[in-house]
Amino acid sequence: MAKSGKKAKSVESSHSERIGPASTPIFQTSVYNYPSLSALDDYYSGLIPGAYIYSRNGLPNAEELGSRVSALEHAEKGVVCSSGMAALFVALCSNLKAGNRVLASTDLYGGTSVLLREELVRFGIRASFVDTANISGFCKETEVSHPSVILVETISNPTMKICDIREIAKTAKETGALVIVDNTFATPFLIRPIEKGVDVIMHSGTKSLGGHSDLTIGILCGNAKLMGRAAQFNTRIGTIAGPFDCWLACRSLSTWQLRFSRSCENALRMARFLEKKRDGVARVYYPGLESHPQHELAGELFEKGMYGSMLSFDIRGGPTEAEKFIKALSRATLTPSLGSYKTTVSHPGKTSHRQLTAEQKKLVGITDSMIRVSVGIEDFNEIQDDFNKAFKSL
Ligand code: PLP
Repeated sequence: MAKSGKKAKSVESSHSERIGPASTPIFQTSVYNYPSLSALDDYYSGLIPGAYIYSRNGLPNAEELGSRVSALEHAEKGVVCSSGMAALFVALCSNLKAGNRVLASTDLYGGTSVLLREELVRFGIRASFVDTANISGFCKETEVSHPSVILVETISNPTMKICDIREIAKTAKETGALVIVDNTFATPFLIRPIEKGVDVIMHSGTKSLGGHSDLTIGILCGNAKLMGRAAQFNTRIGTIAGPFDCWLACRSLSTWQLRFSRSCENALRMARFLEKKRDGVARVYYPGLESHPQHELAGELFEKGMYGSMLSFDIRGGPTEAEKFIKALSRATLTPSLGSYKTTVSHPGKTSHRQLTAEQKKLVGITDSMIRVSVGIEDFNEIQDDFNKAFKSL
């Protein structure tokens, strides 16, 4: 009794000694003052732990965000960039040089696809694309073409294919390729790719980690060596994020697990509801459905019996019906992003994958009647009523 009383007192006193803000302040400064040239020398020699000098080299709010996301991903270190695409560019270009090859999944966010097809190719970095749903074909191609980097999404945007990153990591180790995984759709709530042997994880924090449609940010996670080089490259090209967006993202992270788990539950209910709407829906794409061709694999890879907050469906008819349906929704909004606390819909063919040619869209399986849903945390009945009303308008 005396012992526990003593312990309680020491906890109290340690709390009262630590008086400070309950939330990390926003360090809205672009540069720091130094008292002397020798202090500057000490900074550059790494003799002042935790010191900052200039925002492009690093800032406290970014440091906090990088640490928190890398902890969630069970990685050694995190690097924060100005957007998901900036993070991807940093991950790729800090590891590639002219003449190198990238092997990527055919199913990627449209922006990632055009970055590889139209931008990196101008710098002598060529990419080839193979369907990761055929994992043995993908691994065989890795052995044949010896890419320097492999780039895949854990759950693909917008067709919800699942990538067996365990097999990819195994083959990559044998062939010496670096594996970068976009974990934006799955998030560390479902899978932590580092534990499966992947080298670098990339997040568009603009999506569910941010969760409120009010910030743009990207985060990379990996080992200290790879992240050290990524941080250096990020500083050199200036793709750093500002303090306020980092602060917003940290604020959001505190409630992210609750939000994401609720969205996953709602998404499964929504997928089941849509699957039963046979008169209005031709196909539902959601890994949590038994009808998903990789449902078993998703169950093996993902934790908590959950399958993510994103789903897509093909509406019966074509673009006219898709337009009619979207216009008839009154709660869910047409918002060409994802991961918000509220349910939003999008049309991949006209938004996220607009830049793809008709042939590329066909290859990936993006149809004119495809609607992508980012399921929010509302009372499920409210979302269902909204969708039911929109189906009745067809
Ligand atoms: N990766 C995926 C899967 C995405 O959906 C997106 C954007 O929609 C990105 C990357 C790019 O992220 P950002 O818009 O933050 O640059």
